[in-house]
Amino acid sequence: MMIIMHPGASREQIDAVIAEIERHKLTSHPIFGVEQTIIGAVGDGHYVLKEEFEALPGVLEVQRISKPYKLASRQFHEQDSVFQLDGFTVGGTEIPIIAGPCSVESREQILEIAQAVKEAGANALRGGVFKPRTSPYAFQGLGEEGLEYMAEAREKTGLPIVVEVMAVSQISMMEKYVDVFQLGARNMQNFNLLRAIGETRTPVLFKRGMSATIEEMLMASEYILSGGNTRVMLCERGIRTFETATRNTTDINAIPVLKKLTHLPVILDPSHSTGDSAFVSAVAKAGVAAGADGVIVEVHQDPPHAISDGKQSLTPEAFAKMVKQIKAVAEAVDRRLVAQHERA
Ligand code: PEP
Ligand code: MN
Repeated sequence: MMIIMHPGASREQIDAVIAEIERHKLTSHPIFGVEQTIIGAVGDGHYVLKEEFEALPGVLEVQRISKPYKLASRQFHEQDSVFQLDGFTVGGTEIPIIAGPCSVESREQILEIAQAVKEAGANALRGGVFKPRTSPYAFQGLGEEGLEYMAEAREKTGLPIVVEVMAVSQISMMEKYVDVFQLGARNMQNFNLLRAIGETRTPVLFKRGMSATIEEMLMASEYILSGGNTRVMLCERGIRTFETATRNTTDINAIPVLKKLTHLPVILDPSHSTGDSAFVSAVAKAGVAAGADGVIVEVHQDPPHAISDGKQSLTPEAFAKMVKQIKAVAEAVDRRLVAQHERA
């Protein structure tokens, strides 16, 4: 339910509405606008009468949110969510590019590739230290040692770092290092993990599950939002289809569909969605043309010898070429890449 207050409603009237929401065991999510306050009442409120809230002093209108997800919906928050990440904004006109290897493999590897992606135009550095591998015998990541290397790479380049968190038990240790938590496709419906991430205030790159519908994705993101962590970026990373020519199928449709349904920024990962470096640039450009608010790409200095996802990793040269082309596509759709001078 959304309770829209009169433009002149007093703080006492707003507080009284919040108290009434909480009396019904719902949680309140006020948005204090310049002119008007809107209060979201979230929870199982189907039995609560709309009329009861309409009768409270200062209330202009009460609307039920028809979608099964609430805080993520455009009905709740009409304007695009725009938020700050070290040195740039996401969700606005500017398009950030996040790049780096699939896995942190060694100190030398990450420091070298961090510098290379920065020079080629990246705004943030990615690198996994806990890897969700299909086989338990495959490389599982360097763990906290890898985070120390990522932190050193941030210090040397100024790029904020994006790292996947796989378990609730990793959160408090990782929070000290990372700028953005990546929530991986395989954990999209790990509701305990989602709730625990929702308790933090670390921004989240939230990946679509490989067999998740757009609605399931939005409902899962609601677990994070309802904990009060509002800086969530949704990431299309390809879904499983009958097609086997590529690792996954990029659901390009998901980009404009998500932009219609939600106010959250939408990021495309063409590396995992194609699984092949030969197709990454083409699909990245298609994503930006379709309205993506950012791109996350795997880049490695020696793809054939990468420990994970080498086949889909771009070389720094191919990445630099892709960035130039994305810039032109962004401008064609009235967007622009994060300006060089704003880069950390
Ligand atoms: C990754 O980013 O390396 C990764 C494992 O991604 P996903 O969760 O989308 O498979
Ligand atoms: Mn990967």
